[in-house]
Parts: sequence; structure tokens; C-alpha cells
Amino acid sequence: MAKTDFQVIFWGVRGSIPVPGPDTLKYGGNTSCVQVQIRKRLFIFDAGSGIYSLGRELIKNGEKLSGDIFITHTHWDHIQGFPFFSPAFIKGNHFRLYGQSKTDATFSELMAGQMAYQHFPISLDQMGAEIDFRELDSGVHLELGDGISLDTIVNNHPNGGLSYRLDCQGRSCCYVTDTEHYPEIDQELCRFVHNSDLVIYDTHFTDDEYPNYIGWGHSTWQEGIKLVQAADAKRLVLFHHANFRSDNEMEEIEKQAQARMSSCVAAREGMVINL
Ligand SMILES: [Zn+2]
Ligand SMILES: [Zn+2]
Repeated sequence: MAKTDFQVIFWGVRGSIPVPGPDTLKYGGNTSCVQVQIRKRLFIFDAGSGIYSLGRELIKNGEKLSGDIFITHTHWDHIQGFPFFSPAFIKGNHFRLYGQSKTDATFSELMAGQMAYQHFPISLDQMGAEIDFRELDSGVHLELGDGISLDTIVNNHPNGGLSYRLDCQGRSCCYVTDTEHYPEIDQELCRFVHNSDLVIYDTHFTDDEYPNYIGWGHSTWQEGIKLVQAADAKRLVLFHHANFRSDNEMEEIEKQAQARMSSCVAAREGMVINL
């Protein structure tokens, strides 16, 4: 595989709520959305507000589109962009939408809920593209064709969630967000991300802030470094930046993280990583 055959592109890197404005220009203010392009195959992780710009980019050349969209969980910052994902309105496009059902609702009901008439003028089934819902749970291994496989693991987050690992011909990328670390390194998660080329990790908080937010379901950049080093993974991407974090504060965090692990980088909108 050529170096550009496995590309990771960041469209939304923020947690909780979009925060556009002069203080977030460098890292970006949109909520979670990451595109992984493996040759012609399109994969999207989460549908936060970042998916809006991704959608506009995808429809530029007018080609019919097909892709797999993986939702970690249906907290609003991970799905709020979907009603504005223009490729899903185009007849002839085809998306497979993967996520977890909950005890009180199926995954498709959860996705449709935010587009109920009380909240949005167009319902999900009026969107135009063919959308297949696929339910996933923790511990699933899927072959997606073209030598690409996907694995899932459960998150430690209010009402749960899934993290994902995508593998293709010896290269891999893990998307691990909205999950809180445990006092000891989670050995299962460690095995899950073992040896991977890239771990995109929930670093919403810092170790200093964390004691005030125990049980909120988020981790820290310090814990991200511990995990990646224990798992012999190659690169850490700090992700799901706190909504209250300015560019100056992000720069400071990125600098501190890089002093401990030089290959670490803080996600920013528009960043492209070739694996
Ligand atoms: Zn989130
Ligand atoms: Zn969440």
C-alpha cells in the first residue's frame, strides 16, 4: 500500500458543543468527526458538526457516494451534524450507519430521534440516500471487504458507547473517544489498541482538572500517553478537546504532551495523517 492509501482526516475535534470563534481558530470548534479514507473506501467516525464540511467536500465532484459511518454513541456532540450531511440527501448515495442499540431504543430509533418533527423539519427516512442501519456491540469483529476489518470495544461513559479499530494490510487506526480511564490501565483497551499506528484518544481533561470530573466519562492527555506507551502503539492524537479550551491553552497542552511523547499531536480541523 502506498503511504497515501490510508488517510485520516479530521473534520471536528471538539467535545460537547461546537465553539466557533476567535479563540478556537487554530484547533477548530466543530464537534467530533473523523474521515478515514482507504483508497476508494470511505469511513467516517462520528457525525458531530464537523461532518457538515466533510459532506460539502464529498459532493463537490458530483460522483455517487458510498460509505460506512461508525457512531461511538448518540450523545448530541456525536450525531448533531448528521441532519446537515448533504450526501445523505442525495438519491443514489448509499451509507451504512453503525452503532449501538440501548435497552430503551434501537440504534436507528436513536438516530431518528434527533430528527423527529419536534426538533427538525425533515425526518431521517426522508433524507434521500439509502441508509442501512447496522447494530454493533462491544467485542465485534467485522470484515468490511478490500482487506479492511473493524473491531469494537465498550467505552466507560455514561450510557456506554463504542471505540473502534480499523485495520488494513498491517496498518491500523483506533478511534477511542468518550471514555474514562480507570485507576489502573485498562488491559482490555490496551490489547485493543496494541501495536496500532494511530490512537485518537479522548483527552477532554487534564490530570489537574480530572478530580473535579470523575464519572463524566472522559479521560486526560496524560492517561492517553500511558495507554499508548503501554500498548506499544506508535502515535497518539489528542482528541475531543474541551469546549472551554482556547487555542493558547491547547498549544500549551500539546507542548507538554510532546515533551513526554514526541510523536504526539493535538487534533485540529483539516489535519491529515497518512499511515
Ligand atoms: Zn462527546
Ligand atoms: Zn458522550
